[in-house]
Amino acid sequence: NPVLRLSGITKSYNPGAVNEVAVLRGVDFEVAAGEVVALVAPSGAGKSTLLHIAGLLDTPDSGTVEIDGADMTGQSDRKRTRMRRNDVGFIYQFHHLLPEFTAAENVILPQLANGTSKADAAERAHKLLSVVGIAGRAGHRPAALSGGEQQRVAFCRALANGPRLLLADEPTGNLDPTTSDQVFGALMELVRDTGLAAVIATHNLELAARMDRQVRMEAGVLVPL
Ligand code: ADP
Ligand code: ADP
Repeated sequence: NPVLRLSGITKSYNPGAVNEVAVLRGVDFEVAAGEVVALVAPSGAGKSTLLHIAGLLDTPDSGTVEIDGADMTGQSDRKRTRMRRNDVGFIYQFHHLLPEFTAAENVILPQLANGTSKADAAERAHKLLSVVGIAGRAGHRPAALSGGEQQRVAFCRALANGPRLLLADEPTGNLDPTTSDQVFGALMELVRDTGLAAVIATHNLELAARMDRQVRMEAGVLVPL
């Protein structure tokens, strides 16, 4: 089974109203374990809507969302939330780290919430922070870190509970080009290290070219770039 399979996904905002926006018009999309797919879309094309549906934060009007072979369409909120917490990691353009906790604690806390022991959580946090090259900053709070370092911590937090699917929305979008390039490299290291399936939305065609496959959102469907 692919980790993510979207079939015939449609979504409109304000359906039936004069200001109806048909954002997704039949999206078919599969991502396999270990595969990193670039999602390229102009602003307003429906990229966030698609990522929210794939990550079980929103529901489509029609079509199915399967994660690891499990059809999540029509499942209860409780089941969808459990699947999201266990199997999906999100990364945004801004890090959303907890300011009063250190880098390590930001990676440890979601694991404790998930029932991992303190010792195991700390060990995993150290390992993840090492992969992205900032183990030496583990004891710093976000405000003491650079933008690139903050974003690396956010990547580690997203992967803390070992998701099967990573959904990233412009993960390096708020960084300068050089930092963006390095931080993207760190993200790829993490993804390769864990072998998860990843969908990474970006406007940067050079970064997109470094991924395994590229798709573009056009008129509500996905087409190969
Ligand atoms: P992107 O992430 O590609 O910029 P979005 O998925 O956020 O696009 O939005 C796609 C389109 O749907 C845009 O035209 C946006 O204005 C519209 N839209 C998004 N969310 C809502 C909403 N809650 N209500 C009405 N329209 C929305
Ligand atoms: P928790 O309560 O453990 O944070 P949730 O199920 O609320 O778990 O969220 C799981 C993931 O979904 C988190 O990574 C969170 O950042 C993301 N998330 C939750 N709600 C939203 C939302 N409305 N918009 C974007 N991301 C969200």
